[in-house]
Parts: sequence; structure tokens; C-alpha cells
Amino acid sequence: MAEKSPFHITIAGAIRRCETKSELRTLGELILMTKVPENHDVITTAWQESSKRLGYSGERVVASLLNQKDEAEAEAPRCPKCKAKFTKQNPETSGAGLCRECHTGGAF
Ligand SMILES: [Zn+2]
Repeated sequence: MAEKSPFHITIAGAIRRCETKSELRTLGELILMTKVPENHDVITTAWQESSKRLGYSGERVVASLLNQKDEAEAEAPRCPKCKAKFTKQNPETSGAGLCRECHTGGAF
């Protein structure tokens, strides 16, 4: 069985594949009821393209995605010293609680 992706990844493709306003509206309603933890920009772009193509604006969906993006960023754990979000490139160092840059003295 193929590996499954989380909903917030697959929804962007589903939005792009919509062929009717009513399909897009259904996905929009789903998004309004769903907590989207990441991938907001990709979903928003997909939504804007499909909404233009199908003539269904669904501005509430875009507003909801923007809101959720703000919330997700506010909730994201940050380095207490430089306030940078932890990333794969600059992860939290185990034990120290700082990002790797701050923990090692960093290049910056
Ligand atoms: Zn830091």
C-alpha cells in the first residue's frame, strides 16, 4: 500500500483537481472545519488558482487559512535566546533548549 500523506498535504492536490464549483465549495467547507497545522501557503495558492478557474471565490476559506497560518506560527516553538523558530537546519539542541546556532555560538 502506498504511504499516505496527511490531509493538509493532500488537500492542495484535491483543490487543484476540482472540476466544478460545487466540488470546490465542498472542499472549502471541509477546510473551514479543519485544523490545518502547516502547508498553508500551498493550499492558499491552490485555492486561489482553482477559485479563479471555476469562478467561486470562497474568501472565507482564504481568510481561514491565513488565520491558521498566523496561529500555527505563534504556536511554533522558538529558541528563547534568538527567537528563531526551530527548523531542520537549525534544530533545538537536546538538553540546552536553544537552537543550534545559539548553543554552539553560531556563525551569525
Ligand atoms: Zn537561537
